[in-house]
Amino acid sequence: MERICANCHAVLAANKKADWCPACGGAMTDRPELAEVETKAVPAEVDHRGIVLPRRHAVGGIITPQ
Ligand SMILES: [Zn+2]
Repeated sequence: MERICANCHAVLAANKKADWCPACGGAMTDRPELAEVETKAVPAEVDHRGIVLPRRHAVGGIITPQ
């Protein structure tokens, strides 16, 4: 499971514990981790708030989660 904001869908780093979203103050909720090989192959980038940043495409741009 991973922690995701119900409001802005920010994903919280696995080693962070927060009841409220550091980005928008929304409620955090649990969801199953994405079972994609890519998510395991590329180490997650986490910002100073403990939010997992969106993975970027090799040629630039942000991949929008479905
Ligand atoms: Zn949020």
